Amino acid sequence: MNLKPTIIVIEDEKSICNFIETTLTAHNYKVITASTGQEGLSCITSCFPDLVLLDLGLPDIDGIEVVKQVRSWSMIPIIVISARTQEQEKVLALDTGCDDYITKPFGTSELLARIRTALRHQQHLTGNGMINTEPIYSYDDLTIDFSKRLVTLAGQEIHLTQIEYKLVSLLAKNGGRVLTYDYIINHIWGPYADNNNNQILRVNMAHIRRKLEKNPAEPNYIFTEIGVGYRMRESQQ
Ligand code: CA
Repeated sequence: MNLKPTIIVIEDEKSICNFIETTLTAHNYKVITASTGQEGLSCITSCFPDLVLLDLGLPDIDGIEVVKQVRSWSMIPIIVISARTQEQEKVLALDTGCDDYITKPFGTSELLARIRTALRHQQHLTGNGMINTEPIYSYDDLTIDFSKRLVTLAGQEIHLTQIEYKLVSLLAKNGGRVLTYDYIINHIWGPYADNNNNQILRVNMAHIRRKLEKNPAEPNYIFTEIGVGYRMRESQQ
């Protein structure tokens, strides 16, 4: 019986593929590799993996196309691995439905952390695709009690406006994952939000940081992924 999580690695660069395979195998994952998009897609339909690691620059079809095809029938976690540092690529991949991205070159601990986060989020997905989170978020001094809508920092209640609370709880419920600006704006202001909301989002985030962070320039809870969005620390509970 094999209870190891199965991960499909779709990557045409042999050295990177080998590095990932060796690392993941040593950490008790079962690894299947594919070097083209088509091969990867047929692996995904035949092997029922728990997670996909996907290179964006593949020799046959674009990685974004792979994300689109998989998302048409499956919510399996997809982490994009890419040498491309262009923010637009990352944003497109995330908005197309991949769960996270990791930029080459990356280290073992970063890779393993991203995989753990994506697998954990998958376990919290309910049948309707909504994330069923723990009732309490907790990291370092920060605690959020979602049922009471109560945010405390080292035991002291923090007063947030309604929008600020919505932003913090959205990020906290997705702790460890990057959320794109568009994703956040859609969730907070709805699909008819206009470009001004980008500015409003930034202003609200600045206010939140002043309330939560000891040093807003070196945040401990909510990080800016430049040109992409925001990522909040994963809850320790
Ligand atoms: Ca490649």
